[in-house]
Amino acid sequence: MPALQPVRGTQDLLAEEQRRHRAVIDTARGIAERYGYQEIATPIFEFTEVFARPIGETSDIVTKEMYTFADRGGEEVTLRPEYTAGIVRAVISNGLTQSLPLKFFASGPMFRYERPQKGRFRQFHQIDVELIGAAQPQADVEVIALAADVLAALGVLKHTVLELNTLGDQASRHAYREALVGYYAQHRAGLSEDSRNRLERNPLRILDSKDAGDKAINAGAPHFGDYLTPEARHFFAEVRAGLDLLGIAYRLNPRLVRGLDYYCHTAFEFVTTELGAQGTVLGGGRYDGLMAIMGGPETPGVGWAAGIERLALLIAPPAAPPRAIAVIPMGERGDAAALTLARELRRDGFTVELGYSGNIGRRLKRANKIGARAAVILGEDELARAAATLRDLDTGEQIEVPLAALKDRLAPFR
Ligand code: ATP
Ligand code: MG
Repeated sequence: MPALQPVRGTQDLLAEEQRRHRAVIDTARGIAERYGYQEIATPIFEFTEVFARPIGETSDIVTKEMYTFADRGGEEVTLRPEYTAGIVRAVISNGLTQSLPLKFFASGPMFRYERPQKGRFRQFHQIDVELIGAAQPQADVEVIALAADVLAALGVLKHTVLELNTLGDQASRHAYREALVGYYAQHRAGLSEDSRNRLERNPLRILDSKDAGDKAINAGAPHFGDYLTPEARHFFAEVRAGLDLLGIAYRLNPRLVRGLDYYCHTAFEFVTTELGAQGTVLGGGRYDGLMAIMGGPETPGVGWAAGIERLALLIAPPAAPPRAIAVIPMGERGDAAALTLARELRRDGFTVELGYSGNIGRRLKRANKIGARAAVILGEDELARAAATLRDLDTGEQIEVPLAALKDRLAPFR
């Protein structure tokens, strides 16, 4: 029988990798809490409509990347490809639209059927921040500042550049869309097939294309900034003023558009050159139209998501867990004493490994292999004297210690 394989684009997170993920999540959660964000978890799968409606039937995510299936009861469900839609659905489902503004922090797995490569998986993980019910540009500044603080705490900020753009309001977008359609119509022959399809349905998305031919055409495309309404222009100026005030550096990138249809006004990404093609570590923006699309009241929102795998590649190795005390029994009396001693020490906060196979030599070898700091050897002779042998595994020194004094003597090895 051939050995079973993991599904393409999925991976097991072994100890070191899992520690990196945890460092990212714990750091982000701690900072989000200081900003007053509450942790939320929504289901990993939802009715397909929860994602299909807001993300847009024409987006790459919905047309190509969603894990959608009928469950045994015939319900159309989808593994979540992103967090925002689920959180907004949760706000509506739980009747929370009366308690705005709401601030959420979330983390967990996402699923997209993409071509796997470095920093791009089919199951990946995100941290996510959403501020729902605040229409002011200060809210955009707040979530960007929160993002910058998380990246700084992870030691990643200095390796990134914040790219910033505005997608304007509806009137701006309408005027721009007309201009874009006109421009692309003139270059139709040079566009990729995907982009020719986007031309009628969503020309804005062509700006996001990774196709080389499309990119060349995009270089000459009209600039959105020239089509902004005065209100949208003012909103963006306020966001920029707030970032300047906080000393958060950014680079304007007029080509930055978010992959999802419901974004408006501010769009931003923290990008790095240190991950090859997968340079975006964190992306977000304002989504004032989303709640209404999902059947809730007209409600503004702004937020971001960051890829944990990409951040995990950039952070310094997190501290290893505390080194263990190896409790090593010899003989039957030792076995019983070791069981109770190990439990007591663990209750006292020590990390304890119980060695119970092989002769003393093997047990000590194993203790060294797992990086234990000290070993407590419980032999018949010592136990008869109500004592144990305490061995410093770094220096090899060992002494006999009365059982009653053991905890005190172990304290320096914690
Ligand atoms: P990209 O341009 O890299 O495809 P995206 O615009 O699809 O990113 P978002 O939907 O904004 O990404 O998701 C936010 C973040 O989640 C990204 O910036 C990235 O760090 C991470 N991310 C997105 N897709 C994947 C994936 N397939 N594997 C790993 N991380 C991902
Ligand atoms: Mg993508």
